[in-house]
Amino acid sequence: MSQSIKDKLRSYNVEILRFTWVGLDGVIRSKGAQVSHVEELIRTGIGVTKAMFSFTPMDIISPYGSFGPQDEDVFIVPDLSTLTVFPPSAIVICEVRDKGKPWEFDLRSKLNARLEKLKEEEGYDVRSSFEMEFYLVKDRKPYDDARCFDSSAFYNNPIISEMIKVLTNSGIDIIRVIKEYGPGQYEFDIVHKNSLRSADEVVIFKEITKQIALSKGIEVNFMPKPFNKLPGSGMHLNISLWREGKNVFYDPKDKYGLSELGYNFIAGLLEHAKALTALVAPTVNSYKRLVPGSWAPTKISYGYNNKSTMIRIPTPYPTMESHDRRVEYRVPDASSNPYLVILAVLEAGLDGIERGLKPGNPVNENAYLRKDIEDIPRNLREALRELDRDNRLKERIGEQVVREFINIKSAEVEEFESIVTDWEYEVYRKI
Ligand code: GLU
Ligand code: MG
Ligand code: MG
Repeated sequence: MSQSIKDKLRSYNVEILRFTWVGLDGVIRSKGAQVSHVEELIRTGIGVTKAMFSFTPMDIISPYGSFGPQDEDVFIVPDLSTLTVFPPSAIVICEVRDKGKPWEFDLRSKLNARLEKLKEEEGYDVRSSFEMEFYLVKDRKPYDDARCFDSSAFYNNPIISEMIKVLTNSGIDIIRVIKEYGPGQYEFDIVHKNSLRSADEVVIFKEITKQIALSKGIEVNFMPKPFNKLPGSGMHLNISLWREGKNVFYDPKDKYGLSELGYNFIAGLLEHAKALTALVAPTVNSYKRLVPGSWAPTKISYGYNNKSTMIRIPTPYPTMESHDRRVEYRVPDASSNPYLVILAVLEAGLDGIERGLKPGNPVNENAYLRKDIEDIPRNLREALRELDRDNRLKERIGEQVVREFINIKSAEVEEFESIVTDWEYEVYRKI
């Protein structure tokens, strides 16, 4: 089998197979296996310093992280089912192992184990999908001036067409392509499927789209808020639970087709909303996106097809079928670790189901204007504090890993708060 991987890579002129993982900080990182040694490295894995899991997006080891250069290596071992070739490059997503076992700090393994346990104990399968929003950028400016749903953006757009072609050939099934609100901003929606795969697809999606854009001298930007006064980019998560091939979020008797269990799940997300925010919107930049009027949420709320609420129960199609019943959680952005996003949302939702929580009334008007509804945290510092306070969620996800997350992210907040911005200089220089 591995012989054929080597041949396959050679036949596409791929020189390096990237062994890829996502750190606690949400950054996609890789070590490269040179094609002539690929079989051996697939067998043994590649050693990586544990300190990598105390890294911040600034590429420094957090002063509060648990690991340093003195620590032993863990091994990144490919899950060959994720092998994706998009010449001249190829990646395979890895499990991180410590002494032969999945490592506590590897969120992909953690999510995988949780999904297996849930299946075994409750018979649930979890399905999910992400909506990928991003800007095409050239010289720090939006690449085009097409705005919302502008047809002309599709007249002759070789970048978008090539992205679709390569993604499709790589097994990433895109269902909708949308010209988003901002100039140069697009959204690609990936088809709903088993949850581990949907997180893997975020990683593959980002790698492929970045490579294509870069080869044409432009940049794909997934930052939550890359430009002042233009809309931010989210990574909304759609999720549903299934049992014996049936969607258990579906109940045709409910006006919106959502089952009691679905409402309990929503209630769990509302209950843990503040803590969840830190995990799914984990950068200082994330909070510049979550502002009133932006179509990104600011209030702890849910509603029927309401795009100002934190959770949306999408409008059922006239011919709604059970497979379409899902819950859309609108806080996440692409600076997050997608494995952690699914794991955290799942734990919050399951807590709602186990405790039979009720979500209260839906918000059917513009939530931004509702002063009586609580805000989601306003910045990363506040969100991290809320996460630290939410003992139930911390325990469900795993104390150790959440502690490390809070520690490395606190370093990020402190660094950011110590930087004097251009805005400050301009506004305060003459004081
Ligand atoms: N760009 C918005 C966000 O940051 C979402 C717009 C939409 O509803 O698709 O969440
Ligand atoms: Mg959108
Ligand atoms: Mg959406």
